[in-house]
Amino acid sequence: PIPREPPKIHRLDESVVNRIAAGEVIQRPVSAIKELVENSIDAKSSSISVAIKDGGLKLIQVSDDGHGIRYEDLPILCERHTTSKLSAFEDLRCIKSMGFRGEALASMTYVGHVTVTTITEGELHGYRVSYRDGVMEHEPKACAAVKGTQIMVENLFYNMAARRKTLQNSADDYSKIVDLMSRFAVHHINISFSCRKHGAMRADVHTTATSSRLDAIRSVYGVSVARNLMEIEASDNDPSSSLFEMKGFISNADYAAKKITMVLFINDRLVECSALKRAIEIVYAATLPKASKPFVYMTIALPSENVDVNVHPTKREVSLLNQEVIIEKIQSVIESRLRSSNDARTFQEQT
Ligand code: ADP
Ligand code: MG
Repeated sequence: PIPREPPKIHRLDESVVNRIAAGEVIQRPVSAIKELVENSIDAKSSSISVAIKDGGLKLIQVSDDGHGIRYEDLPILCERHTTSKLSAFEDLRCIKSMGFRGEALASMTYVGHVTVTTITEGELHGYRVSYRDGVMEHEPKACAAVKGTQIMVENLFYNMAARRKTLQNSADDYSKIVDLMSRFAVHHINISFSCRKHGAMRADVHTTATSSRLDAIRSVYGVSVARNLMEIEASDNDPSSSLFEMKGFISNADYAAKKITMVLFINDRLVECSALKRAIEIVYAATLPKASKPFVYMTIALPSENVDVNVHPTKREVSLLNQEVIIEKIQSVIESRLRSSNDARTFQEQT
């Protein structure tokens, strides 16, 4: 055989590296909205509204009434790895904010056109500036603004033809966005949320701040869901096995659905935990006569050193210490709660 020369290795252009990384952090429009809304939550907002055009491909707009961004921070706001939330790696152990890596806004500027309007407390006017590939396109312009920050992302994935095409074919991102906003709204009940298609009169998610979780669930998921919920609680104080506290609402035997709805927050982060979800489905299938899928809202608090929030670029899946023990405890609490409600129900039907 003819000897072949190995291909030459070269360093990728920084802009190529950044665009590839950005495509991983922002996988689809809904990932951008998650990052933007979490930034608004981190900014201590009491009201967050989202407007969407064309499933988020044409326009994403997130407005909040949070603390705003300093004028002097605007030049580096959208650079990679610039953040106000983390300084040392050790801080990750006890980080309370949703964000910490300073990658979200930067990523959006590599795959879309980002415009920021912001005003800080005590200022007479705000500033507006647009970004491309991590940098400001021009000096910030003074403008009228109401309290807080508005971030606009236009033409998401304009420079990623394949991504745009697959997303255009599946027109379901708006429903993913509504689903995401619903989850935020039932957890952060002290914040008002709204989510609408740009220009639409009616919002598809609309909540006002409340002190009642059940009220929040009712206004997002409807009366028929809220009517059939039971409150649950579980905890473990034994540091040798597991330390956790769980609270939530689960559907009772009268609730009927074809699909499970599982809204899960661990240490106030919206996450997925497929093992826990499956474990709960199993309990329902084994305990209730009807093959109905449950509705579950659950919030779990763990010592922050027992959760690794840094396992995935989207921060979606978290890994927990003592996961099996925690899941078993939760299963048994749900099972006994379901049994007692189902027994009471059978009794009622007989008399
Ligand atoms: P991270 O959230 O990981 O810090 P981001 O790229 O999401 O990184 O945001 C960078 C910084 O921009 C944040 O640390 C924060 O200081 C500021 N910021 C972003 N969005 C907002 C907002 N809506 N209100 C106030 N500050 C914001
Ligand atoms: Mg962030």
